[in-house]
Amino acid sequence: MDAAEVAVISGKGGTGKTTIAAAFASIAGDTVLADCDVDAPDLHILFQPSLIEETTFSGSKVAVIDKDMCTECGLCAEKCRFGAAKPPAIDHIACEGCGVCELVCPEEAIRMVDRVSGHVYNSTTRAGPMAHARLMAGEGNSGKLVTEVRKLAAAIAERDGLSKVLIDGSPGVGCPVIATVTGIKLGVIVTEPTLSGIHDMERVVQLLDKFRVEPLVIVNKFDLNLENTDRIEDYCKKRGIHLLGKIPFDPVMTASMVERQTLPEYAPEHKITSLLREMWDKILQNLSSK
Ligand code: SF4
Ligand code: SF4
Repeated sequence: MDAAEVAVISGKGGTGKTTIAAAFASIAGDTVLADCDVDAPDLHILFQPSLIEETTFSGSKVAVIDKDMCTECGLCAEKCRFGAAKPPAIDHIACEGCGVCELVCPEEAIRMVDRVSGHVYNSTTRAGPMAHARLMAGEGNSGKLVTEVRKLAAAIAERDGLSKVLIDGSPGVGCPVIATVTGIKLGVIVTEPTLSGIHDMERVVQLLDKFRVEPLVIVNKFDLNLENTDRIEDYCKKRGIHLLGKIPFDPVMTASMVERQTLPEYAPEHKITSLLREMWDKILQNLSSK
């Protein structure tokens, strides 16, 4: 049976999504951790994974000129809209991989090759196996890279007989988030009680609706604005969304990160650790009912 995927996501950065995902990873067991926030991964900073295997990721193509075949006629430079063709060489930073130069070259001196856009890592951590990645600076196609991380996590789960994949997703509702939530079992939205937090949460709920993924909501730092927390609760009630829990503001969350520990590691008896354990239990109950 395929491992059930649960993604912790948020409409915007800075809501505490990764802190909460890391805490769940510490609590979970029987789980593969997948860092799908490939544009700004940071779970590796916390978990200091030991690398087992690294593979390169190619999200696009780049042109290469065979200098021996090039007559320097200049046609490729004339047709390249990005100023990347500079025969007998190509500026690989400027090249967009459109392939026009390959088409127009009368000497067939140009071919398109895979561009190395990032790396995918198969690692182990103190919280269990972890799939993660890094996109190289200036590279796009982060959605494709997210898909690669999810594939690797699923393969690890199958290899190790693990029943769940816990995903730390990207913030927002863009391509990497769509690649994160497609086909998952549950989307745990971490929000905060600000107007922008509420707006962004609503956008993520709409996205999950489109992909028929059940949303669960966590309000982080709920006590910083009780009025907005009430709004979130009302919204969830009206939409029939399960409010998984509310976490009060507490400097212990930041203190644990500074020590590079998850909250359950840093403060196993803390009330927020207990809250997070209760939330994870509810997630498991929800999964078992599916
Ligand atoms: S079009 Fe082909 S032959 Fe002409 S300059 Fe470019 S690579 Fe060289
Ligand atoms: S592939 Fe496109 S962008 Fe790259 S050098 Fe050729 S024409 Fe220019």
